[in-house]
Amino acid sequence: MTSASFIELSRDALRANLQFLRMLFDTVRISSVVKGNAYGHGIPAFVPLAESLGIDHFSVYSSDEAREVFNAKKLSSTEIMIMGHLDEEDLPWLISNEISFFVFGFERLQAAIACSQELNKKARIHIELETGMNRTGFTNEFMDQLADELLAAKDHIIFEGLCTHFAGAESIANHIRVEQQKAHFKEMTAILEVRSLVPKIKHTCCSAAAIRLPEMQYDLVRIGILQYGFWPSREIFIEYIRKNSPIEDPLRRVISWKSHIMNVKQVEMGSFIGYGTTYLAQRDMKIGILPVGYALGFSRSLSNQGRALIRGKRVSVIGIVNMNSLAIDITDVEDVEHGDEVTLIGRDGEVDISVSSFSELSDQLNYELLTRLPSHIPRIIS
Ligand SMILES: *Cc1c(COP(=O)(O)O)cnc(C)c1O
Repeated sequence: MTSASFIELSRDALRANLQFLRMLFDTVRISSVVKGNAYGHGIPAFVPLAESLGIDHFSVYSSDEAREVFNAKKLSSTEIMIMGHLDEEDLPWLISNEISFFVFGFERLQAAIACSQELNKKARIHIELETGMNRTGFTNEFMDQLADELLAAKDHIIFEGLCTHFAGAESIANHIRVEQQKAHFKEMTAILEVRSLVPKIKHTCCSAAAIRLPEMQYDLVRIGILQYGFWPSREIFIEYIRKNSPIEDPLRRVISWKSHIMNVKQVEMGSFIGYGTTYLAQRDMKIGILPVGYALGFSRSLSNQGRALIRGKRVSVIGIVNMNSLAIDITDVEDVEHGDEVTLIGRDGEVDISVSSFSELSDQLNYELLTRLPSHIPRIIS
């Protein structure tokens, strides 16, 4: 092994997750959300893997992520949708390559129409409605103007989708707000439909909403966190378990993160370990040094807190996590040698470190921790 650490993606786990999701969503199409470098899994590795398991639609946040997916995908029929930022300079490339994108304001709508006229090729747009998230989307008062402009531009655009995004469907505390969003979406859709503006598809659901609001699944669901094998929140997991009583958690984690022992060291009782004085050896100890630190995504807040797995045993991170290295306590693990594999996220025999336990320790959400895994860590498929 040459790299300091590597990320392993499990084909079997992703296959199992997609099977489960297809069962859950029946005939509704799944768009695999791969923003944030595929939630840290790595777009170049994840996209072809998902394609090989039947995914034919990917959602990203920005035009540069769309380029990454475009370069990574193996099938010409695979579709890409941008849900957020794009550079207007990218419009010719996007439209020529039939990459669809959200439109949530008149400037982007006009720019898309102008570009499609110039290219003589129709832009594929998804009109995003502001239903209560208060982030992006056309608000109610602009529905008539929007309808006018869409009708006038009929020859230059494909009205691919009509969509919105829920503000916190993963928590029942937001129930009233979510119900209002549902009602707004339906009202606003009706205004456009009265004007004969009918999109090819409608879509509103992220992972949490797709589970909690099956009536809002429409034609496509935008699934991020679930496909990677994580529940969007503990609440959604419990709701699913209560309703369906599965024998075990149907989701399997796709990602593992592994490193190796770079150095083994004996430390005498009474010595401080690492920078400063945060860790005092209370007995004669054996420690292992790993070439992983906060520059590689292992949070400094896991200093004296984190866990790792080696030879099927759970061990503690001791001392301060450095920029490029950290120490683990291997006093009670026999026969550890230079080069031994160490698991930072994942399973080793009977023991396991989930991203969520890891992230609870470092006080981050799954989403945040995953996307902070640097893109330069090598990804391999197992
Ligand atoms: C991130 C995102 C999703 C996917 O969210 P998950 O909770 O990971 O399923 C869906 N839709 C939009 C607009 C998003 O930004």
